[in-house]
Amino acid sequence: MVSQPFRSCVACRTSRQKRDLVRVHLVPDGKLGVDLGGGSGRGVYVCPLHVCLEQAVKRNEFARCLKVTLAPMTVEDLEELIRERVSRKVAALLGLARRARKVVSGAEAVESAMKRHSAQLILSAADASANSVSKLRTLAKEVGIVWMQALGKEELGAALGGAPRVCVAVTDPCFAGAVMSVLKKIPVEMEARERPHGQAADLGGRAEPRKVWG
Ligand SMILES: [Zn+2]
Repeated sequence: MVSQPFRSCVACRTSRQKRDLVRVHLVPDGKLGVDLGGGSGRGVYVCPLHVCLEQAVKRNEFARCLKVTLAPMTVEDLEELIRERVSRKVAALLGLARRARKVVSGAEAVESAMKRHSAQLILSAADASANSVSKLRTLAKEVGIVWMQALGKEELGAALGGAPRVCVAVTDPCFAGAVMSVLKKIPVEMEARERPHGQAADLGGRAEPRKVWG
């Protein structure tokens, strides 16, 4: 496996692998864009942590590093932009997984995939009922599968080309890993992932839910 290059966060200066950072760059209309997977041209890297994003915005690091003048932007705007990119990327990955027949959806199919240990990642819709969320989360923990919350029911359905879905199970480890690494870029308040890469699958239901609102 080729290890990815490291980059430093513009706010805290911590050096991390590129895949663990969000890349901010300039889009053609002169606004900031967000990259989740590399990208070319001039870019600025930042941790997907509220504190780093806030500091970068306050200190105007993006304009300074990109050598441009930017319209004022709040940290909330930036976080919203990241969430939106994450949602789109997760939906695209789920669409590909569906075409490769590496995803099942609906409570029954998902539970059965978990029990057969063919599920690699469980996603509950961000707007699924508390009951269905807690049921799946508990079951995922019991069988040791990563559980997360992402997208709304409508968005999950659209990604899979059909009616709204409350949950999906990704059954292929590569797709599951790709979805997890994208979901890790949702800005969080605090560092909750001081662990070597590759151990995410051991976290099971203990993984904190990362919500992607549509
Ligand atoms: Zn940082």
